[in-house]
Amino acid sequence: MPCQVCGSLPAVHAVIRGHQGMFLVMRSRKREGFFCRSCGTSLHRRMTTDTLWQGWWGVMSLFITPVTVTMNLGPRARFLKLTAPYGGWRPPLDPGKRVLARPPVLLVLAPIVLMVIVLATGITTAAFNSGPAAASVRVGDCVRNHSNWPDQDIRRVDCGSHLAEYRTARLADCDGDELLMRLEYAADAEAMCLKPLGSV
Ligand SMILES: [Zn+2]
Repeated sequence: MPCQVCGSLPAVHAVIRGHQGMFLVMRSRKREGFFCRSCGTSLHRRMTTDTLWQGWWGVMSLFITPVTVTMNLGPRARFLKLTAPYGGWRPPLDPGKRVLARPPVLLVLAPIVLMVIVLATGITTAAFNSGPAAASVRVGDCVRNHSNWPDQDIRRVDCGSHLAEYRTARLADCDGDELLMRLEYAADAEAMCLKPLGSV
């Protein structure tokens, strides 16, 4: 079967889908038929691009849009496997720019990507600043010095964490060559020293 758009060969049967969300109503579209590499790719790119900026505007649409875009990857791969079209009654459609290089997609995806980056940065920062800082360290806690000795920026961390550097001990249990923790970090103002975790 030749391409139904331009009449070229070879062509492959495919279903390309699109989705529009409009708050309460939504509309799914599909193009089914035989398409050559150029026409198929062109249709896939146009419908996917439209879906990526028209698709999100509804509650159900939030779920349907990613499914639609994913389902379009199947036909896309089949079009790309075809050889260049020949013998049509008109020139094949221009495949145009890649989906991700099209302005409407960038407009919609840029804020989403930005939001993900901001969220990820927030989560990472929160994880690294784990544990309340000042005046909360008790004997037996694990800590990390976030500064360079002799400066101290002591934070409590989970003993199982790879961030744990020292375990605190009562002054009476210190050997003498261990590091003294500044009193401001200690709960109940109890003097403590820091034993490197490797040597405990
Ligand atoms: Zn064609």
